[in-house]
Amino acid sequence: MMKYHYIFGPVPSRRLGRSLGVDLVPPKTCSYDCIFCQLGRTTNKTAELAAYAPAQEILEELKSKLSEIPAPDYITLSGSGEPTLHSQMGDIIRGIRQITAIPIAVITNGSLLWMPEVRRALADADVVLPSLHAGESALFQRINRCAPDISFEAMADGLIRFREEFKGQIWLEVFIMAGINDSDEDIKKVANLTSRIRPDKVQLNTATRPTSEKNVRPVDAQRLHEIAQMFDPPAEVIADYKTANAVFHNEAHIADVLDLIARHPSTAEDVAESMNISSENAERIISNLLAQGLISVDIVGDKIYYKKQI
Ligand code: SF4
Repeated sequence: MMKYHYIFGPVPSRRLGRSLGVDLVPPKTCSYDCIFCQLGRTTNKTAELAAYAPAQEILEELKSKLSEIPAPDYITLSGSGEPTLHSQMGDIIRGIRQITAIPIAVITNGSLLWMPEVRRALADADVVLPSLHAGESALFQRINRCAPDISFEAMADGLIRFREEFKGQIWLEVFIMAGINDSDEDIKKVANLTSRIRPDKVQLNTATRPTSEKNVRPVDAQRLHEIAQMFDPPAEVIADYKTANAVFHNEAHIADVLDLIARHPSTAEDVAESMNISSENAERIISNLLAQGLISVDIVGDKIYYKKQI
């Protein structure tokens, strides 16, 4: 069986169902270093577009993976950092189109949409899922800790321009953190900016998984629903993913589980769902990885997440 460097999952996604991930940049290459990031601190903070991974190898891996598994709901460009930093992203999206009719999603922080080449590269995607967590510069800097070449104004302008040009769906994620961006005043600012961007959906999320900074806390469900009503039209609160009873035929190998956990801090239940294995099997593999010191435990609320040891 082929060893995959750029393809991971399918992972259960609250927004995209069963999503087969394509990782375009090495960990952790990003134009932001968000305080709520689930992947830890950014080690290569940059706004420079480059061929961070070979496009042809990515497409060959994808073709092979698709021949091994039932069709996922989406092929999703996301992973260990910011996918729009890949200078050949447009070629990769067009290459995926040649391989399969499965819809293509791109999860992006939206920081580089002021660059015309990035907007062009995304043009052939079906769904783009950018994020926006602040409606003004100081809070944006505090939350996103962006690369020096990026400004709040350029980022916001890029999102507005992208909406004017892009024919597909835009689902904007707003991540709400208790005591950081959950005041009425902060929400009004981000909601105003959202009205100017005009995404197809606004989806609210909060810190229910381990985050880069320990002081990041979730808002409770009641407040999140109140906040949702402050958007016009109201935002959607993203519910916890509950797996459908789809049947997957892939066997879980320890390396696959480690790969999943490295890209997506996961509970034992997440691992079982994603790999379509029993919870006993997921727990056995997790115990093995813990014993080898390859993963560590992070407790958030009443859930136990496993993260790759750096
Ligand atoms: S949350 Fe996304 S945009 Fe923010 S640092 Fe992590 S990978 Fe980058």
